[in-house]
Amino acid sequence: MKNEIFIIHGTDYRNMAERILKEAGVAEKIGDKEKTVGIKPNYLAAIDPSLGATTHPELLEGVLKYLSENGFTKLVVMEGAWVGARTADAVRLFKLDQLCGRYGAKFADMQNDTSEVCDCAGMDIKICSTALHVDYMINMPVLKGHCQTTVTCALKNNKGIIPNSEKRRFHTMGLHRPIAHLNTKVRNDFILVDNICGDLDFEEGGTPVQMDRVLGFFDPVLCDSFVCETMGYQAKDVEYIRLAEDLGVGSTDLSHAVIRELNSAPDGAVNPAGRSPRKTARLSAHVKADNACSACYGMLIHALARMEENGSLTKDHPPICIGQGYKGKTGDIGIGIGACTKGFAHHLPGCPPRGAKILEFLEKVLQASSRKSS
Ligand code: SF4
Repeated sequence: MKNEIFIIHGTDYRNMAERILKEAGVAEKIGDKEKTVGIKPNYLAAIDPSLGATTHPELLEGVLKYLSENGFTKLVVMEGAWVGARTADAVRLFKLDQLCGRYGAKFADMQNDTSEVCDCAGMDIKICSTALHVDYMINMPVLKGHCQTTVTCALKNNKGIIPNSEKRRFHTMGLHRPIAHLNTKVRNDFILVDNICGDLDFEEGGTPVQMDRVLGFFDPVLCDSFVCETMGYQAKDVEYIRLAEDLGVGSTDLSHAVIRELNSAPDGAVNPAGRSPRKTARLSAHVKADNACSACYGMLIHALARMEENGSLTKDHPPICIGQGYKGKTGDIGIGIGACTKGFAHHLPGCPPRGAKILEFLEKVLQASSRKSS
């Protein structure tokens, strides 16, 4: 179903990717084994995935393994690094030739590909030929922030399948409109999102927020809307998502989404604060975490970042508590985030609650507490 969202938590990334594809029935959806399947990760440059910018190769391996074990032999992994970087450097860092070779897949560098001019809902856009001629496309973006477009995920990842000259032109057009139009033409049959440790603010990483999740979607607009909610934004605030919906690419309607959680947050939850760069460490200082799951904690960090940006994150507030260590604790302990804190006088339900909900809740509670103290 186009409105399904698959979520899996954990750290065995290769198996998580395989499991999502299996649960979503991707092999059955592709059908004929003779079909050519394209796979588009996000390797904008040779940047280690732990920095929150690039697709973890373990996920790519999971996708290739799944497809090859299901009898698909015409597999093409494709990428074109961003302007100023060479795809070949990313290929070397991620050992993509060897990885593809193990599963009989080809790697195609979109910086060396031919292109064709396509009518994308009234806008002419040059698209790389290899991407245009696959029968099924698995898009593998990273959930992360972007300094110009606020968020980047499925829709914007397809900028990697246009030539460099076209990427430059997209920037002169302000990115939003051309990204939306591009997606009326390119395939987005399945989207497997790397939500392991995407960056808080920037496409090139540096401020990763550990969440240890992999997500699956059939609709790229729904995907990007969900990403907005995770990061404490709303889809309507991101122009290219709204435009893509208007052009019929997909739906932003999360209220009708069917969410399939394939497991619950893992036992032995981690506290990502311990391995945070400066900005996340600063935000973490507002939090009292006790065995918080990565996804829950990550969404709280995204919400706090939005509050810091809009000036609503005050210094003096009751402790913001999160984590499984608060299960069963009751009373006026602080502000509780998530189902584990349901005994608190003030708490936000959800397991985990989404970033946008955390933002709304905290803004209200912090405002009320600063009114009381003044
Ligand atoms: S509410 Fe508790 S169990 Fe649920 S994700 Fe958050 S910390 Fe984990």
